[in-house]
Amino acid sequence: MQNLWNDSQAKKYKTDLELRVYSSQLLGQNPSLVLHGGGNTSVKVMEKNILGVEEEILYVKGSGWDLISIEAPGFAPVRLKHLCDLAELEQLSDPQMVNELKTNMTNAAAPTPSVEAILHATLPFKYVDHSHADAVVTITNTKEGKQRIKEIYGDKAIIIDYIMPGFDLARLCAKQFAEQVTDKTEALILLNHGIFTFGATAKESYQRHIQYVSMAEDYLKQQNAWDLEQGEIKETDDATESILKLRNNVSATAGFPVILKTSNNKKCIAFSQRDDLEKIAQQGPATPDHVIRTKQLPMLGTDVKQYTANYKKYFNKNSAGSDKVMLDAAPRMLLDNELGFIAIGKTAKDADIVEDIYQHTTEIILRAEALGGYKALADNDIFDMEYWVLEQAKLKKGGNAPEFTGEIALVTGGASGIGKACVEALLAKGAAVVAVDINPNVTDMLSQANYLGIVCDVSSEAEIINSIKQTIKRFGGLDMLILNAGLFPLSSKIAEISTQDWRKVMQVNLDANLIYMREAHSALKQAPNGGRVVMLGSKNVLAPGPGAVAYSASKAALTQMARIAALEWGADNIRINTLHPDAIFDTAIWTEEVLNARAKHYGMSVEDYKCKNILKTELKSSDVADLAAAMCGKLFAKTTGAQLPVDGGNDRVI
Ligand SMILES: [Zn+2]
Repeated sequence: MQNLWNDSQAKKYKTDLELRVYSSQLLGQNPSLVLHGGGNTSVKVMEKNILGVEEEILYVKGSGWDLISIEAPGFAPVRLKHLCDLAELEQLSDPQMVNELKTNMTNAAAPTPSVEAILHATLPFKYVDHSHADAVVTITNTKEGKQRIKEIYGDKAIIIDYIMPGFDLARLCAKQFAEQVTDKTEALILLNHGIFTFGATAKESYQRHIQYVSMAEDYLKQQNAWDLEQGEIKETDDATESILKLRNNVSATAGFPVILKTSNNKKCIAFSQRDDLEKIAQQGPATPDHVIRTKQLPMLGTDVKQYTANYKKYFNKNSAGSDKVMLDAAPRMLLDNELGFIAIGKTAKDADIVEDIYQHTTEIILRAEALGGYKALADNDIFDMEYWVLEQAKLKKGGNAPEFTGEIALVTGGASGIGKACVEALLAKGAAVVAVDINPNVTDMLSQANYLGIVCDVSSEAEIINSIKQTIKRFGGLDMLILNAGLFPLSSKIAEISTQDWRKVMQVNLDANLIYMREAHSALKQAPNGGRVVMLGSKNVLAPGPGAVAYSASKAALTQMARIAALEWGADNIRINTLHPDAIFDTAIWTEEVLNARAKHYGMSVEDYKCKNILKTELKSSDVADLAAAMCGKLFAKTTGAQLPVDGGNDRVI
């Protein structure tokens, strides 16, 4: 394992806390040490309080911060003596512990201290580094794990049997540390959990961490349990339909729409195609804290009913005699010979986290198998963690979920103008959004888990079909379709328009939308909350003018298609509505050239032309986008086949 400590970098960090920030970020940079919250660090410093009295303060990682990006405000300052006194108590309930941690901070604005704060406090070293290092966990999760750890670390590490994090673990560690510590002690190994190292300086503690994890890695190498064979990847058939059905079933079980992410990672795909998954992938997570992300077990195959029944059994068995309420029984991880390696989450980000965690889990399992057999904790230990209020609290942060959480929208022409505004409006409402555009900038227009940009020429049927497949592979379905892409060529009269120009407009403004509708129908039909389509029509449909015949005719035909679709698809619980915007001048089709030509056509100045409506207002693409997003939402839940003008009021339309 690479030691990332750099003396010249470290010099930029002056105070004890700044150095704590530096080496915490170094730990966080290595995902085989720290993955989505699985680790924490601390430093003990002397500080004068407001009365001028010196106090020893423990700065410990606050919840809600990841080590990779932690800064000084991410550490919660807690009075050390109080924490050490707490460790002497016989017992302390979780709510009491959280209360004591929060009420003994010296900064009311700091985040809630880590649940492992008391453990950090009891270790008598200035710096303490803790991670759930893959290599250490791999070794402890085998039948002779404890023996192997003894072999590797000898008298340099104190070994703690598994016990759930929180007060009891802190108390046990404090006791065993006091009993077993020698001047050789440099680490604590927590079986099925992780490793603590410590030191007088940030560098010493960090370097010991790397050294001790490297010893575990070296051991795995010596035992021929390090290099993983990827194995052959089997070719599989198009999985699109199966994924749609699966998402529908999982969402129904969960009680909310979910995102399904099919992994592209070859190692993950190879793992999902192994024939011994029943044995190696049905034991439990590598460390118990993963359970809140992945559940205890991945689902093998696609039988959601069976998975749910098994989960209920697990809940009933482990909750007997308690008043616990069952969480949703839906799987978060799926391994299937044909479909591959699929991570499931409430949001795209959640699914990404599951994918990361389970990818590491597969490596831990395979190496532990090579070492003699993977052995996870018993299901009651996993259950205790899954239903631990302090873990569940981590998932509940952030208040109410936005309206379209777990849903997927595709916007054509999404790189600019109304399309881009629709992408933003739908993201703001919590949807995962796919923007499709001929402009290559669409791919990196945004960089976030719930966005996918696809370069696509909608005049190509194959590219349209591919864009839908990619959407389903990345997010698992398609719930909302915003058909916005369109051409608005220079005005030409019927007597003058070329057949070629006419066909080009029809191809993009009409044919492409028919293909999108047809190809997306199955996905929309299986949308957990019902499918929605919003067509971008035009004021010209209701109030045409001379010229622009191809454009007007294409939008009129599109409007008619929406009406037919509303009739045909009502039984499938798919709503189709049409917006008729008048000219929206912050869009790509309104080039200087077009604007001047249209203004001239009406005998107006460009400024007057922009506000030529009853309300004398200029329309913005966000006005249309907000309405398009609203039409996908609850407000319009009982509306289909409707046409709504967004035109500032037009006397011919009224
Ligand atoms: Zn831990």
